[in-house]
Amino acid sequence: MAVDDLPLGTAALRCIRHARVPDVVAAVDIVLAGERVAAVVPQGDAPGPRELGGAALDVGGRAVLPAFVEPHVHLDKAYLLDRLEAAGLPASTLAEAIASTARLKATFTRADLRERAERALQALIRHGCTAARAHVEIAPPVGLLGVEVHLELAAAYADTIDLQLVAFPQDGIQRLPGVGELLEEALRLGCHVVGGCPYVDPDPAAHIDQVFALAERWGRPVDFHLDFSDDPREAWIDHVCARTRALGMHGRVAVGHLTSLAAMPPAEAAPRIAALAEAGVAVIALPATDLYLNGRGADRCPPRGVTRLRELRAAGITVALGNNNLQNAFTPVGNGNLLQMAWLAGLVGHFGTAAEQALLLEMVTTAPARILGLGRWGPTAGARADLVALECTDPLLAVREVPPVAAVVRAGRLLPPPPTRLAPLRWESAPGQPSPLA
Ligand SMILES: [Zn+2]
Repeated sequence: MAVDDLPLGTAALRCIRHARVPDVVAAVDIVLAGERVAAVVPQGDAPGPRELGGAALDVGGRAVLPAFVEPHVHLDKAYLLDRLEAAGLPASTLAEAIASTARLKATFTRADLRERAERALQALIRHGCTAARAHVEIAPPVGLLGVEVHLELAAAYADTIDLQLVAFPQDGIQRLPGVGELLEEALRLGCHVVGGCPYVDPDPAAHIDQVFALAERWGRPVDFHLDFSDDPREAWIDHVCARTRALGMHGRVAVGHLTSLAAMPPAEAAPRIAALAEAGVAVIALPATDLYLNGRGADRCPPRGVTRLRELRAAGITVALGNNNLQNAFTPVGNGNLLQMAWLAGLVGHFGTAAEQALLLEMVTTAPARILGLGRWGPTAGARADLVALECTDPLLAVREVPPVAAVVRAGRLLPPPPTRLAPLRWESAPGQPSPLA
């Protein structure tokens, strides 16, 4: 059965035929059982249509990868760029981006927040993402409105994407009254992860301790925006690693940005990388934002800001890449395509060989899946069948060319194409002139 013949949206699949998957030279068939991958066999070895007992999708030799997993995104403050400019608010540094966005929060309504967050979620889905961790702003101006909207979206899109929510105190815990209580309430309502942002509070060490205390009380993972600076003195890696070890949270703590690690001399960075590896702390780089907001003080050769991806991965640390923000004060561009982040990180981090480009693919698929606790991930027996077929044949072309998505399978079902936001093209001509669009 070809792609065009399938009843989209309802299609439970028993097999994906004629696929090219990472690390396997020859084409394969991927046999599915329910929502899981049962086996990956040489092309032609899967049961034929009669024995299969269900639908198959022939992807015609296309690359089939693990579905993309977004480890770090802000749906609730996406698409604020025009509003920011209309209000004349500055956004050329991290501090200005945070302050200006905080002022815009006073304009958030439920409908507005839902419309922007849903648009961002659809952007991820359109680019083959079937799971995402979203940081939800917890602050007095919006209270728990963001949590409520994200929970609505998580339910509405439950068949399409796993949405894991982080209770995120972007504007601090110490400076604003009631944020600690709001974080607790957010966890009670359904946020899964405790977020943190130590660099916005007067006492960053105490902020980190407050976040870990909350995580310990609720038995939840932790995900920090840890440091976001070109100044190595603003790193809080040692403190986070010590708390992670003390609480036995190996594998349940992630840190985002970590740009100060890139600013350290190698002799200072090496023991921090070893400590992260020993504590089992994952690292999430946000290359678009890190490039955009770092290096602002330099008058020549500005630093790139993106953390030490190569050394972190070589130390055995789980390293992932995220979109972070879409078209706002923190990142003025973005379409939700994680392959663009892999492409960008490859240029910034000097990943040029096939083996290095395979690592970039890992950073947007299996590595973030590990951070979100999704279990085995990709075209491998026993994994949940969340797979994406791309308009290319060699899986490595995914990073080199950033090709379009051809099809997305989630939990063994072929997803319908996401709705387009624009009207379909219409051909107008004199009678009898056939439309090339048909
Ligand atoms: Zn972020």
